[in-house]
Amino acid sequence: MNIYNQNKCSNILSGNWACPCCGEVNQNPRFQLLICKLEQISEQLDFSLPVEQAYRCSFHPVEAAKAQPGPHSIAAVHISVNRYKAYQLVMAALRTGINGIGVNQRGALQQRYIHLDLRDNRCVWLGA
Ligand SMILES: [Zn+2]
Ligand SMILES: [Zn+2]
Repeated sequence: MNIYNQNKCSNILSGNWACPCCGEVNQNPRFQLLICKLEQISEQLDFSLPVEQAYRCSFHPVEAAKAQPGPHSIAAVHISVNRYKAYQLVMAALRTGINGIGVNQRGALQQRYIHLDLRDNRCVWLGA
């Protein structure tokens, strides 16, 4: 996926796409697929999907601490939604074939989010 496409996507899905530590954008082709699925999800919902975090390069402190970089280095996003919108987003993600769904719905409302990624095996968990 090139920078042009990510800018184009951000017209539909606003937010922070680049790695927070270096500003690098995700070049993995799987990320393009995730964007397509997010566009499909967006069409099913009557509210916007703010991307709070997406790409983390292998040098990002969270990824560097792991034995090998996790889904955020491949194709993953955090969408800032809570309560009703979080429910609707999870339902739409399940319908759209998103396999990895992390539910982060504790603490202050504005800090809550849903993690979505394109792992191969279906999994839902509480956490980032
Ligand atoms: Zn980085
Ligand atoms: Zn995450």
